[in-house]
Amino acid sequence: MAFVFPPHFHAALPVAGGTDFFPVRRVYCVGRNYADHAREMGALAQAEGREPPFFFMKPGDTVVSGEGEISVAYPPLTRNLHHEIELVVALGSGGANVAVDQAKSLIFGYAVGLDLTRRDIQALAKEKGHPWDMGKGFDQSAVAGIIQPAARVGHPASGRIWLTVNGEIRQDGDLSAMSWKVADIIANLSTMVRLEAGDLIYTGTPAGVGPLLPGDVLEAGVAGVGTLRARIV
Ligand code: MN
Repeated sequence: MAFVFPPHFHAALPVAGGTDFFPVRRVYCVGRNYADHAREMGALAQAEGREPPFFFMKPGDTVVSGEGEISVAYPPLTRNLHHEIELVVALGSGGANVAVDQAKSLIFGYAVGLDLTRRDIQALAKEKGHPWDMGKGFDQSAVAGIIQPAARVGHPASGRIWLTVNGEIRQDGDLSAMSWKVADIIANLSTMVRLEAGDLIYTGTPAGVGPLLPGDVLEAGVAGVGTLRARIV
């Protein structure tokens, strides 16, 4: 038996404190998980915390990573590419119907990530009741930095989450403002799909999302996790 062409390599994130890499399986994202962002998107029920979490996905091979400045190609078919700074949870083991008080045991570590979004395509999809995939899951749409193992940094639940573009602050929030906390997200998501080692979960963005242009340099950080630098090319 042979493959008819070589199987694709998995995307992988560098792990802090050594030379190991974290192989990516799936990328899950939580929508509108900070009330101030839900409000700026006009989603009032979500902003008031009256709705359960909802999820969308990006293909695993949309992940782009690296230890230094990460280059991201400006994607086609948009005139409104948006940044969303997010805390990324990296799972080291899996499970289905995981209890909230067991959820943290699945976590390998955390990274700083960008959920890049073709906002114009997403807005049109919302208007027409179409799927979000082409607004969210395009090539290089899931930027992620170095993974900090939970064994080193613990489980950050509060602290600054911020993003600058060309040195100007655009997003500045706090992890404690998440509507659904990391353990709740894992427990809820694991009722819908079986989670596995290698899964990444983007946990939502605070207010201040906005457009990017080719040449822009982004600096982003999450307190207790680290920083990430990316350039749109
Ligand atoms: Mn997002």
